[in-house]
Order: sequence, then structure tokens, then C-alpha cells
Amino acid sequence: MIQKVVIANRGEIALRIQRACRTLGIKTVAVHSEADRDAKYVRLADESVCIGPAQAPQSYLNAPAIISAAEVTDAQAIHPGYGFLSENADFAERVEQSGFVFVGPRAETIRLMGDKISAIKAMKRAGVPCVPGSEGPLPSTEKEILKIAAGIGYPVLIKAAAGGGGRGMRVVHTEAALLSSIQLTRAEAKAAFGNDTVYMEKFLDNPRHVEFQVLADEHGNAVHLGERDCSLQRRHQKVVEESPAPGIPDRLRHKIGDRCAEACKKIGYRGAGTFEFLYQDNEFFFIEMNTRVQVEHPVTEMVTGIDIVMEQLRIASGEKLSLRQRDIHWKGHAIECRINAEDPRTFVPSPGRITGFHPPGGPGIRIDTHIYDGYVVPPYYDSMIAKLIAFGDTREMALARMRIALSEIVVEGIKTNIALHRDIMMDNAFVTGGVNIHYLQKKLDLE
Ligand code: ADP
Repeated sequence: MIQKVVIANRGEIALRIQRACRTLGIKTVAVHSEADRDAKYVRLADESVCIGPAQAPQSYLNAPAIISAAEVTDAQAIHPGYGFLSENADFAERVEQSGFVFVGPRAETIRLMGDKISAIKAMKRAGVPCVPGSEGPLPSTEKEILKIAAGIGYPVLIKAAAGGGGRGMRVVHTEAALLSSIQLTRAEAKAAFGNDTVYMEKFLDNPRHVEFQVLADEHGNAVHLGERDCSLQRRHQKVVEESPAPGIPDRLRHKIGDRCAEACKKIGYRGAGTFEFLYQDNEFFFIEMNTRVQVEHPVTEMVTGIDIVMEQLRIASGEKLSLRQRDIHWKGHAIECRINAEDPRTFVPSPGRITGFHPPGGPGIRIDTHIYDGYVVPPYYDSMIAKLIAFGDTREMALARMRIALSEIVVEGIKTNIALHRDIMMDNAFVTGGVNIHYLQKKLDLE
């Protein structure tokens, strides 16, 4: 087993990874920016190293500083968490070339999945259902392009192969607009990602976002931990997640989950990962794979009883998965609300000092957060300050517990989106279950 891990992240996920390490008896090194010097998890870590100023490019994205921190502390592994360098293949490669274990997949797997065209090709070969599309980069001749679009049927979506964060996409409704839209998307992709390769997909008009969690070891074993519904989004940012996804037939869930696990074996996947799908009219369509732990992993942990971060560390230590698919059982329902330091109406970030914090509690309530009374939310990073998770034997029970927790929680001194979550938990369509990815935005636009 790995003896000491550098946690190359901050905030709640740094604390979450630290807890998993401590459970396994692994020593931790917190690397932090000057702005995070006083963070709780920095003090709780066995060792800490300041890696640079507040601005992320000089600290949390500073690969040489992070690798040096591993060297000076004699750590064996680096856990990247999510965001920052977690899906940077060059970083993973440098970590391994420097003699450390990267807690995640091999660099070439990250690279394969980072290019959407190569990811889709690999998934198709592995039998994962994908959105009908152009089967690779768009050709250069107009005639061929028009033929592909006609074959798929309008509306179509033009997507940048190197796109990310919801950028580099354009919907086209008519043939007349097709060629100019492709040109625009190419130009944007070139400017934003330095790569003007684009491809075409069928545009789905009212999909849900449903994703599957997988775990795979380097010995060729892989399992899936079921799915999460993350359809409640604002500007492609997830706001609420739950597991299981309401209303998905069990047979279909297991069929897609098994395909994902099989695909892991075929591509030699290692670690925790997520297959993201759009789900519409009882069909799943793969859109991309995330090669890291996700913000919303706790809802899966609550319904499976499996500690995903602990499994990541075991896999990184070279252990065989101790779980077989038949050992995985799902029980109950879990919902997560992402609590952000932001204005609940304008969504403008609201950093500053927290003058009062009262966390909720009771049966089935979990809160993953690094904040405390007097903590100062720095203005430099993502605005998420806590994840509130409610579990119940049924979805109704999880909802009831979440409503109570949201009525108990108090965060004073800064603005938060807690009021928005209280609204969502009372919203008729959400309470019924199964809203699509446009639902929250439309609801907000009406208010
Ligand atoms: P990114 O890497 O930028 O997040 P994704 O491929 O995951 O890009 O797509 C982001 C979002 O765009 C999806 O969650 C979904 O809302 C929308 N989207 C992507 N592909 C399609 C599609 N074929 N039809 C409809 N919406 C889509």
C-alpha cells in the first residue's frame, strides 16, 4: 500500500481525500496556495507545503511545484482530486516519469478520452451506445458535409473535438445555416482550444443527463456502481444530483452499466471514472468520459456503501479490486445539493468571511465541507463551499430529509444558493422526478 500521498487540490475534496487516506493509514501532504494557508485540512494534514500564490496557475496548476512537494516530503503518490490538473494527461505523465504514482488512469487513457472524437470511436468499438453522428472529423468538401447532416437529420450539433466546459458547440436547425455554422465553430474552437477539428452529432431536444460510475484496476477487472441523474444544471453546471436516476428500468440500467464496465476492460482503464450519457426516450447516448473522481460521487457512495476515494487509493497501490459485480448492491436513494457562495438570484460569486455556520445533521444526512465559523471564502477559486447529501430508503424519504437539512443549515456573512435548493426541493416537477437538462434554466428564466 502507498504510505504517503500528496493531495493536489483544495476545499472540500482535499478534506475528502484526506479522510480516505487516514482511514487507510496513509500519511497526507497538503499542498496549498498562500490563500489557503489556514484551511482546516491543511492543519489536519501530516505535512503541508505552500506551492505558490493564490492565483491557480501559479499554485494548483503549477505542476513542477506539486511534483517538488512530493519529492521533498518523500511521498509516493499524487491524488489530483477534480478540476485543476486532474484530467491533464501531460501532468499525469510527468508525475509518473518523476517516479510517483498518479492516482488516476494512465496518461494515454486520459489523452484518448480528452479528445471527444477518439473517445467516441473507442466507446463505439467497445459497444457503448453513442449519439448518431459523423463518425469522426467533418470532411472538407461541402457536398460530403451536407450528405452527413442529411443522413443524421436536423437539428444537428457541431462540436469541437477539443471542447470542454460546455464550450465549442453550436446547434444547426436548417441546411441553409449549416456551412456557415461549421465555419464559426471551427474558428471559435481554434481560438479557444488551439484545434479546429469539429464533428457532428444529432441534437437531442429534451435529454436527461445520466452518468455511470465505474471502478477498474490495472489487472483487468472492472465494475459499475450504477448511475446518477445530474439533469438539474445551470449553464452546464450541475446543481443537484441523485442516485438512482428516477424511472430508469432496471434491465436497461444493468445493461448500460455492464457495457461501461466492459469498455473499461477493453481500453485498459484504471481507477474511478464516469461515463456521461444523454438519456432520451428510454435510450442512452454516450457523450464523454470523465477520468477522475467527480463532485457528485457521494450519492453513489450512499446507495452502494462503497467508499470511492478509498477504492481509488487501493487501485493506485496496485491492488486487485476486491469487489465483483455481484457483490455490489444498491439500497435506497440519495440526493446531493451543491452549496455555492453566490447570490441566489444573480449567481454572482459572494466570497468573504463566514460569520456563522450551523451544519445540519440527523439520520441520513452527510455534509462534505471544509468551511467553519470564521472561515474566509477566497475569491480566487470555484464558489462551491459545501455538498449536502441526504439518504433515505425511498426517494420521498431522501427528499424529506433534505428539506429538513436545508431548513436547519445556516451560513452567515456571505450569500449562498441555499434558498434556491429549498425551492427546488419543493418544485412539483423535480419532486415527481425525471426532469430534463433544460428544466432548471427555464424555471429560473420564468422567475
Ligand atoms: P463538455 O465537455 O463541454 O461538457 P459535453 O459533450 O459533455 O461537453 O456536452 C455538454 C452538454 O451539452 C451536455 O451536458 C448537454 O447538455 C449538451 N449536449 C451535448 N451533446 C448534445 C447532443 N447531441 N444533443 C443535445 N445536447 C447535447
